[in-house]
Amino acid sequence: MTSTRTTDADQDLTATRDGDLADPTREVVTVDQATGRELRRYPAAGPAQAAAAVASARSQAGGWWELGFAGRAVRLRAWRREIAAAGEDMARLIHAENGKSVEDARAEVLGLLGHLSFVLGNAERVLGRHEVTTPPGAGHQRAWVERLPYGVVGVIGPWNFPLATPGAIVVHALAAGNAVVLKPSQLTPGVGVVLGEAWRRAVPDLPDVLQALVGHAATGQALIHAGVDKVAFTGSVRSGRAVAAACAITLTPMLLELGGNDAAIVAADADLDEAAAHVTWGALQNAGQGCISLEVAYVVDAVHDAFAQKVAALARTVRAGSDEQALIGPVPLASQIPVIRHHVEDALLRGATAVVGGPHTASGDRYVHPTVLVDVPADALVATEETFGPVLAIVRVSDTDEAVAHVNAGPYGLGSAVFSRDHGDVIARRLRVGMTSVNDALAFSQNPALPFGGRGDSGYGRKHGDEGLLEFSYPHAVTSRTGTPATSTTTFDRAPGTVATALAAVTDRILAEDAS
Ligand code: NAD
Repeated sequence: MTSTRTTDADQDLTATRDGDLADPTREVVTVDQATGRELRRYPAAGPAQAAAAVASARSQAGGWWELGFAGRAVRLRAWRREIAAAGEDMARLIHAENGKSVEDARAEVLGLLGHLSFVLGNAERVLGRHEVTTPPGAGHQRAWVERLPYGVVGVIGPWNFPLATPGAIVVHALAAGNAVVLKPSQLTPGVGVVLGEAWRRAVPDLPDVLQALVGHAATGQALIHAGVDKVAFTGSVRSGRAVAAACAITLTPMLLELGGNDAAIVAADADLDEAAAHVTWGALQNAGQGCISLEVAYVVDAVHDAFAQKVAALARTVRAGSDEQALIGPVPLASQIPVIRHHVEDALLRGATAVVGGPHTASGDRYVHPTVLVDVPADALVATEETFGPVLAIVRVSDTDEAVAHVNAGPYGLGSAVFSRDHGDVIARRLRVGMTSVNDALAFSQNPALPFGGRGDSGYGRKHGDEGLLEFSYPHAVTSRTGTPATSTTTFDRAPGTVATALAAVTDRILAEDAS
């Protein structure tokens, strides 16, 4: 596939979408997304506050690790109770700060509680000490691996899933024995602050093990420069590059959860009603502002028109607003609205047709109603780039091989969906992406046991599942001598030719094994 995307690799990484990195003191002002009215003001944390937060987190990180799995579980359970009890208030705060419906906000609370239950049930199994085998001739040694925490993890979060996305990372980092300083998005800082307050109530003996640090991008940079031992960043590709550049200087390890341009593949044998229902929701939920939102559907020619008609009918029932009946909320990032419009206009110029909506679906400066485009050329921006709005591009393909080739040629590789009655698993296996739902949309994100992450411009590392716990720990390999070897291989006290004899014995055994 020829992509016309412009890479931002060589753009200035010191400027960000939210402004100037040189001004860490700028206040953070949140607004009620339904009305645009001011909600609250927070002082923005600068380098001194970031350094103090990391220092106090570090002073309690050792105590947190020393508690062991059982001691940490008692406190994680207490925190889980606090979050569950405050769940409805948290959902209303997410609704206010982010704009999504209260019901969608509740799903974030539910998701976070699911991740907490997962780590409570699995942290010791995944991270606890496990014995490994010793090689022939090393029977006098016992060997094992235990996982150690990094120390203090800096978590920098986005606004689009302000609780579930950074929250799941925080949960895994804590369960692995780290202390955490969370820098929530400047659009949705209240949710992060509430998480930190819930921690202080639940864990009074180690209150600084989780702290929230409010501020803009400059505060994120201050957190990195304060000497955290690992950074977990979720956000745009452009900001991810700036974070990676800062971490490179101190060789700070990173988890990068960046953007996506997720595709659905609809095969000729798909159940079209099911496919249309899931793809419409997967593209439009959260007003399309999900890293794993479905942005493009590659639909096999034989079923293209029928599928497009069904999607169009469903999408027409989806209205943006902040009332109880609205299925999607506003677009809080005002700078995204021209991007959405540009992508739609680009597709129309290249010959696509808008069967729902079009370039002028933005009503005011806040709400964008759905757009569904058909006959979109595979190299249109809307098909190759993250549009991050309530837009679905439908691309006609001759067969699923062509669809797979389009997906694998893209610069991102986050999530995907495959719809086929008989071949879903086979098609899924060929996709070079981090996650796939077969005959469903985004379902992988609802299973806390499944690792979540991508490749290419979508970033690296994993959250969720066993891999999420491993991500926030490193292996400490230990071998311990329990007896006396027949021949020493780790002192100078060995007869000449000892290694030659050992090598000959191993060579004979390998040749004999392969001959039989
Ligand atoms: P963003 O990159 O503007 O900001 C993300 C966070 O990084 C914010 O807290 C911001 O203050 C901070 N930040 C920005 N520039 C920084 C810098 N130079 N140094 C340090 N910190 C910096 O992204 P956003 O608009 O909040 O989030 C939307 C993006 O996030 C989309 O691209 C979406 O696909 C992606 N996302 C990815 C995942 C995932 O799991 N892969 C999940 C949610 C969102």
